[in-house]
Amino acid sequence: MIFYNKDINTTLKTLNSSKSGLSENRVEESRKQFGLNITEEKKNSSFFVKFLSQFKNIMIIILILSAVVSSIMAITQNDYENLIEAGLIFAIVIVNAIVGVIQEQKAENALQALFEQTKPISTVIRNNKPQKIQIKDIVVGDIISLKAGDYIPADIRLIECSNFSCDESSLTGETHSVEKSTKVLFGQNITISEQKNMCFSGSTVKSGKALGVVTAIGHSTELGKIANTLGTATKEKTPLEKNIDKIGKVISFSVLFIVVIVFTVQMLLNKNLTFLDALLTAVALAVAAIPESLPAVITIIMALGVQKLAKQNAIVKRLSSVETLGCCNIICTDKTGTLTKNEMSVKHIFYSGNLFKESDSSLNIQHPLFLCGALCNNLTQSSTNTLLGDATETAIGNFLLSKNYNIFQTKKDYTITEVSEFNSTKKMMHIICKKDDSNIIFFKGAIDYLLPKCSHCLIENEPIEITKQIQSRILTKHEEVCEQGERVIAFAMKTTDFDSENELVFLGFMGIIDPPRDNVKESIKTCKSAGLKTIMITGDHPTTSFSIAKQVGISKHKSEVITGSDLDKISDDELVKIINNYTVFARVTPQHKLRIVKTLKSAGNIVAMTGDGINDAPSIKNSNIGLCMGKTGTDVTKEAADIIIADDNFSTIVSAIKEGRGIYQNITKTILFLISTNLVEVLGLFVTSLMIPNAVFLLPAQILFINLVTDSLPAFALGIEPAENDIMKKAPRNPKLSLLHGNIGTSIIYEGFIQTLVVLVMFVISNHKFGNTTASTMSFLTICLMQIIHAINCKSEGSIFKINIVKNKFFNFSFIFLLLLILAIYFIPFLANLFSITTLSTNQWLYVALTSIAIIPAVEICKLFTKKERL
Ligand code: ADP
Ligand code: MG
Repeated sequence: MIFYNKDINTTLKTLNSSKSGLSENRVEESRKQFGLNITEEKKNSSFFVKFLSQFKNIMIIILILSAVVSSIMAITQNDYENLIEAGLIFAIVIVNAIVGVIQEQKAENALQALFEQTKPISTVIRNNKPQKIQIKDIVVGDIISLKAGDYIPADIRLIECSNFSCDESSLTGETHSVEKSTKVLFGQNITISEQKNMCFSGSTVKSGKALGVVTAIGHSTELGKIANTLGTATKEKTPLEKNIDKIGKVISFSVLFIVVIVFTVQMLLNKNLTFLDALLTAVALAVAAIPESLPAVITIIMALGVQKLAKQNAIVKRLSSVETLGCCNIICTDKTGTLTKNEMSVKHIFYSGNLFKESDSSLNIQHPLFLCGALCNNLTQSSTNTLLGDATETAIGNFLLSKNYNIFQTKKDYTITEVSEFNSTKKMMHIICKKDDSNIIFFKGAIDYLLPKCSHCLIENEPIEITKQIQSRILTKHEEVCEQGERVIAFAMKTTDFDSENELVFLGFMGIIDPPRDNVKESIKTCKSAGLKTIMITGDHPTTSFSIAKQVGISKHKSEVITGSDLDKISDDELVKIINNYTVFARVTPQHKLRIVKTLKSAGNIVAMTGDGINDAPSIKNSNIGLCMGKTGTDVTKEAADIIIADDNFSTIVSAIKEGRGIYQNITKTILFLISTNLVEVLGLFVTSLMIPNAVFLLPAQILFINLVTDSLPAFALGIEPAENDIMKKAPRNPKLSLLHGNIGTSIIYEGFIQTLVVLVMFVISNHKFGNTTASTMSFLTICLMQIIHAINCKSEGSIFKINIVKNKFFNFSFIFLLLLILAIYFIPFLANLFSITTLSTNQWLYVALTSIAIIPAVEICKLFTKKERL
């Protein structure tokens, strides 16, 4: 149905709605008729489908085929031993696949939960009351209230508009914003971009306010129609995931190369081995050593880390930002509300040439300054009679109320005909009102923007021309207030009976205190030791900004402060050279912010940038990590950001960086563990098949079991290790370094080699002394034990004796579980039989135990040499 050619009343009637919104009953009816407001149905594949997809791996298919052939041969030859072996291989492959599905499910759930958290919320009017609801719960006929920065959640016919314009580029490709109105359009087949009285799901509000009625939801919206034809976008891989894919490929090819050699050598040299036996061993080795579970494990580690971050109020929207967090060396932060509490209160008032304390009894609230404060704002009254709106304005409003100034009555006495929102580029706002046939315009804004527009100043109710002397008096008092860290708001007015064109009458100003948040000073100190520089970017006055910056430890000298107008005088080339000298950027506009980010980046920094308003979106998009404030941020800014800081607190940003570093470090631990332990099996088989071709080192089922033990629980447990204590004492990671650079690569090779060497020495000796079956049992048990013990080694980049090794409960649990499982295989005769294990003497057990534990001192020694930064 089309609505642009219907007038508002017909539209509302057709949709069974009214300006006061739907009733609960109507909402239910409409939902029954049209369903939920969703465009993408989540395709959730069943457990079985996921289970089957675990067998997509070519090596696993070969393994299963070989096992099938082997069991058929075994049956025809009545060879029960081989039949059991084949059965065991099936069992392990199935367990492995189940573990894989569980892992995948976990990662998916964690990501889904995260995604839900970042969805925007809409304001609808139902039963005459505004309420915030999830987009999916919006129904046809709902009345929606929209403001600048909002996401448009459905197709809407506008009922009321003021200065309302939308960005419809996602639908029409048109980058200019579209001015909207409520006027009825005549004609048929009017294109979307011409439907000025409609706005569409998927676009955003560029400016102004509006009220509208929902005409279509979900798949019936214009966006839904496009989405249906396009299908859903594919998930993009993060640089880390790409890096891991690359590593995986290199490993796979190397493993395949070795496996082919092992197979050929065994075929040629080992007369006891049948073709099928050799094939099974080779394929089992390939299955075990190719780290196909690595990407899934990494995704889960990231997803779980990100979940933990969400609990600490940092909602990560893109997994890739977790990696970037660890490289970040500059945090650009807002002052107001992020470094400060955003609990503002008026402390000083200046008018008629005098500065008053807020508690001064000689304040004359009849002065037009207070009238201007009462009228010139966007405050509304909540049902409990408190003030709703911007923190600065609320502070002024509350101050007036505390002086028994009835702002609500005043607003009724003066008919307000136009209100502009506060604009962070112009740094001021105005309202136009009418009283007794005369028009008055009230202004409120930053003093350095407002005072130059004033020709007169109100002194004792007389407009007096501003002389140099008066101006310097005002500015001196202003500076005095700013030095105490107060935010200053100036007031001015203009009446039509006062006949000068552009010139206003200066009324005075108020100084508002906004104390720093409690833990900010400490967080900034943490940042310093972590090699992170904190930069304050604010629209506030340089003196106020410096005062706060000094209090929280961002800057020491006034020379570190630069203003937006100073920036305008500096060329790009010059700015790159000097930008690192500044810590406070004051009186800047969102456009300056963008320039600051770009320049900091070209000066070689990795920059995190905060923002909240719609105008901050470009600088957030351009930064390496865009942070949007959860409380004050608009939908558009949240969309542009990588991370949403739910509590608007600077300290949350710092803990996010700490966690980000921790997650990355844990990933390297997991990879180190996985690859170094896999090396043991590959190298062990490779060397033994060359050196002692007639001896069995490991049986296929044993290889698969080792892989199951090591690839799953410990690898995963390492991924959720708590962040190491010194993690915020290191410099940020160099983003250009690959995952397996320098020390990590060395550690993998060293730790893999040393384990192989230890096992091989033991195998060769025991093979000579006790025979092949015992030697194979001993090396199997040693590898199993050594690998779970080696997981302890991987817990810390430094010595494990310096950390609390029992802190990670999941690790402890998996260690004990696997230890019991390994012992069970030995002690339970049925299992021992299955895995072709013989009984060992006490002495032989002692060898096994000592050899496995030897991996701890061996790696500790290695760490002495590679201790330097692994991050
Ligand atoms: P920030 O968010 O970095 O503190 P703003 O852009 O909000 O910076 O404020 C810049 C200046 O604009 C303030 O110093 C103050 O003088 C003025 N200002 C802030 N909020 C308002 C408002 N609601 N109305 C008028 N002026 C304001
Ligand atoms: Mg602000």
